[in-house]
Amino acid sequence: MSFRARTYSRSRRFVRPTHSSFCGCEFDRDESRPDHLADHDPEDAGLNPLGELNDDHGAPLFEEVTGRVE
Ligand SMILES: [Zn+2]
Repeated sequence: MSFRARTYSRSRRFVRPTHSSFCGCEFDRDESRPDHLADHDPEDAGLNPLGELNDDHGAPLFEEVTGRVE
């Protein structure tokens, strides 16, 4: 993902992405980035479809270590 930074004389520095991080298309100059990204589905970001959980969704993220670790 790349960004374009502009600094206006009477405002702070303004940074906007130039491409969609999900589909890679280049944004039009005045295209709303949040509206474009909101139109994508979770699958576009490598996530499960909305409302679907993995079978191991309740499993602990890390194994519990018992005893002394040397
Ligand atoms: Zn996109």
